[in-house]
Amino acid sequence: MNINELRKDFPILSQKIYGHNLVYLDNAATTQKPQCVLDSVMKFYTVYNSNIHRGVHYLSEKATEIYENARLKVKDFINAKSRSEIIFTKGSTEAINTLAYSFSLKYIKPGDELIISEMEHHSNIVPWQLYAQNKGAVIKVLPFDNNGELLLDKLESLITEKTKIICVTFVSNTLGTVNDIEKIIKKAHEHNIPVLVDAAQAIQHLKIDVQRLDCDFLALSGHKIYAETGIGILYGKEKYLEELPPYQGGGDMIKNVSFEKTTYAELPLKFEAGTSNFVGAGSLHTALDYVDRIGIENISQHEKQLLDYATNKVEEIGGITIYGRAKNKVSVLSFNVDGAHNYDVGMILDKLGIAVRTGQHCTEPIMTHFSIPGTVRASFALYNTFEEVDRLVEGIKRAKKMLVG
Ligand code: PMP
Repeated sequence: MNINELRKDFPILSQKIYGHNLVYLDNAATTQKPQCVLDSVMKFYTVYNSNIHRGVHYLSEKATEIYENARLKVKDFINAKSRSEIIFTKGSTEAINTLAYSFSLKYIKPGDELIISEMEHHSNIVPWQLYAQNKGAVIKVLPFDNNGELLLDKLESLITEKTKIICVTFVSNTLGTVNDIEKIIKKAHEHNIPVLVDAAQAIQHLKIDVQRLDCDFLALSGHKIYAETGIGILYGKEKYLEELPPYQGGGDMIKNVSFEKTTYAELPLKFEAGTSNFVGAGSLHTALDYVDRIGIENISQHEKQLLDYATNKVEEIGGITIYGRAKNKVSVLSFNVDGAHNYDVGMILDKLGIAVRTGQHCTEPIMTHFSIPGTVRASFALYNTFEEVDRLVEGIKRAKKMLVG
């Protein structure tokens, strides 16, 4: 994997910010887009633009083909059994909201229970509060230890006859922890409980095979894996998706409509009301092809090397607290400069052309766990280099000197 060659695929990376070469280390928030993805979007609008499904004309058929081929690509990428299991959404958030609404409507009664981990992104907490808790369900929390590892031996004691679903992230966007999802799924299935895996931070780093994992639902976002914003996936086992009611009503998701009664379309369209982001779907196809050409294993190996290198270098500075010490981690480095506010550190790094994220990263319970207002988060992608890590380290040293002396 020749990083300097790969970087040429990403035009945004070659710009200067405040006179410095951009060092983009905010990849957990969103990834940059390779030229092939940008080209695919441009080509769609200049050559194929037309609304999908139900059109008899050439362009509509072409656009439908692009959209449905993207679905097949996702199916193969995560090794789903059938295209019916792949629902296009606008991202992980919408995928989880879709499931939380439908699942709660169908299966949740007052007094039922859900298990959610302490390290979830808000988008895997709030939808369950909106729909399940509001139906009278109780949310139980699977905690993590100070290294940022889930306390899996507590899982059994949280499960009861009333547990209806377990919702857990594959990878923590704040701590970088790769959770032992397989173990959780196995335990859940011993009790016939389905599991939702939030793969928003996993899809771009790890090989995901939903059949091997045997997860019941999985959510992901295209923009985290080099595709456009506004496209994501809800994967669900067909047996559940068949039973679940639709989330939104509108065009495309129906079979017949009358004022007395409406019947719904077959899967997956039952869950895709209205005009979908078909351009985004095409961009996701292109992005997944791009990742396949490089090889997800090569990407994760490179990112792991960057993470190890960055962790050592940041530790060497001294006076830095790192959050997330799990044995199995992906390329997320959350830290604070002792005695300084994360926001001030982020501002100084920004002035040096280094883009990191600061704050709670939509994981307030993690901040509560550590009793901190937030962290500085550097997150690496396939195009980051060791020189960029050096720039980060120099930047942190400078910030530390300015802020704590
Ligand atoms: N889950 C996790 C773990 C995430 O990191 C994110 C995005 N930061 C989401 C869910 C939500 O993704 P999106 O905003 O693309 O819907």
